[in-house]
Amino acid sequence: MSGSRSKSRSKSKTPVDPRVMRIRFLGVRGSIPSPGATTAHVGGNTSCVEVLAGGQRIVLDGGTGLRRLGLELGLELVRRPIQLHLLFGHLHWDHIQGVPFFGPLYQPGCTVSLVGPVGLGQTLRQQMSVPSFPVELSRLPSQLCLTEIPPGFTFSIGPVAVSTTALHHPGGAIGYRLELEGQVVVHACDHEHTAGQGPDPRLVELARGAGVLIYDAQYLPEEHPGKVGWGHSTFAQGVELALAAGVRQLLLTHHDPGRRDEEVAEIERRARLLFPGASAAREGMVLELGRGEAGRREERARRAVEAVEAAEAVEAVEAAEAAEAAEAAEAAEAAEAAEAAEAAEALPCPRRRAGVR
Ligand SMILES: [Zn+2]
Ligand SMILES: [Zn+2]
Repeated sequence: MSGSRSKSRSKSKTPVDPRVMRIRFLGVRGSIPSPGATTAHVGGNTSCVEVLAGGQRIVLDGGTGLRRLGLELGLELVRRPIQLHLLFGHLHWDHIQGVPFFGPLYQPGCTVSLVGPVGLGQTLRQQMSVPSFPVELSRLPSQLCLTEIPPGFTFSIGPVAVSTTALHHPGGAIGYRLELEGQVVVHACDHEHTAGQGPDPRLVELARGAGVLIYDAQYLPEEHPGKVGWGHSTFAQGVELALAAGVRQLLLTHHDPGRRDEEVAEIERRARLLFPGASAAREGMVLELGRGEAGRREERARRAVEAVEAAEAVEAVEAAEAAEAAEAAEAAEAAEAAEAAEAAEALPCPRRRAGVR
């Protein structure tokens, strides 16, 4: 996986290097949570991805995976106030169900920006109201800022540029592109491709050059004909999109709730036959974008400096050698001259010779 590395089961933490984008999957299941022995390895929580970038904490979707993040942040809140941004693709249950159980919302020291499609405010208020839930959204002690956006809206979160586009899904959905210093992660979930046609050009544009594309792959290609209009895609369509957009890594998510661990592994195997950069997203999986590239840039710069230094050193050595050689030649000449003089002195002087005679 060039330019990135993956770890597993890591806790939330802000990367030291602000150029790095750290992506962590907290929920990878579609439709409804699916706990149990047959799904334990992939995970049964619904859609939720944490992205740490440029000192910002951004969360894509508030499915049941959000609860775990809340538990972790609860410990951090004891030390200092926290701020985070929650971006919703759409408002189906599997993308909002973690919100009432997200601990930081109950902490006065927490500031949460909630961004999502039109209807976000009304839906969250309904979700957190009697008789469905005992605590109303308006009574939460945290600082909430709610913004409803149309697909195509662009904005920024600190240094992270966010752009969006419409996805094909019943009731509509929004795909997000997060970009920081050339590093890009795209979240396109839930989305249905149109059979027989290539990827949606707007989505290709959104995903263009992404380091990581997180894509809805709920159905198998052989299942999709029976699920047309349900709003989901296949790994094969994800591969088509990844190839069309020049994506480096394709992360397949929104796994069907009935899909067992070994079946998800089989989807990953089939996808990799078509596109080696494909992986099935699993709960706890972490990807880092930027460290590889930054590291390689630094390495190239270091080598360039070393090469210049080495060339200068060679030049200096050559100059020193030349100077030594010149000195040696001068010394040799001087020695020769001295020898010649001595030899001349040793020769019998013709006049002295005449005198002796
Ligand atoms: Zn969904
Ligand atoms: Zn949906």
